[in-house]
Amino acid sequence: MNKKKQLIIAGPCSISSKKELNETIKNIYSEIDFFRCGIWKARTNANHFKGIGNKGLKWLSEIEEKYRTPVAIEVGTPKHVEQALYHDLKVFWIGARTTVNPFYVQEICESIKGTDVEIWVKNPIHPDINLWIGAIERLKNTGIKKIKAIHRGFFCMKERKYRNSPKWNLIKVIKETFPELNLICDPSHISGDKKLIYSISKKAISLNFDGLMIETHANPENALSDAKQQINCNEFKELMRKI
Ligand code: PEP
Ligand code: MN
Repeated sequence: MNKKKQLIIAGPCSISSKKELNETIKNIYSEIDFFRCGIWKARTNANHFKGIGNKGLKWLSEIEEKYRTPVAIEVGTPKHVEQALYHDLKVFWIGARTTVNPFYVQEICESIKGTDVEIWVKNPIHPDINLWIGAIERLKNTGIKKIKAIHRGFFCMKERKYRNSPKWNLIKVIKETFPELNLICDPSHISGDKKLIYSISKKAISLNFDGLMIETHANPENALSDAKQQINCNEFKELMRKI
């Protein structure tokens, strides 16, 4: 197996309380490079939990300071960016449902112009590699220097095993187009099932990915989004030992 040191991003899909957030970060901060936490969730079902919203931003800037670990959140609109910047957050990701639309991506670009934020771009929902490349190009054209690409799998009607099919061959195109970018694998959204996280992580490492984004929650059974695919803090530590 490839022995390159992986960049590790971990944290909950979303949180429903400050207690959940604190319980998660205090158990994993020493083993990660970035903490992730969704604050606004782009839910398919209109009546499902939409994230804790603005009040969570303050909690995140507090833990960033306390644990000296950079915190990343998903942004989907210029308003999200504005509120996150107001709370001094500086690492954002663009989710699969946002990468699909060049208008959204361009609006986000306008809202971060002139800042030194770091942005990660997840692949779009469907396997249109040029849409993914286009989103990254827009950020580069905006003058953003710190960009990463995240493979979270693609929606596929025929897929049985995974929630979102990984397309390992397409990944080579991203590597060739942007050799300078870190390429991260998100086994949580690929699998949709915590039992598959280890095998997908191993595969990504063997394919020379630069890092992993692993959804980790202090109490996944009670999580209000993506409960089935999140691992708890002990499982996360075990995974880190194994890879
Ligand atoms: C997430 O990271 O929690 C998320 C919603 O991701 P994606 O955009 O890959 O579905
Ligand atoms: Mn999620």
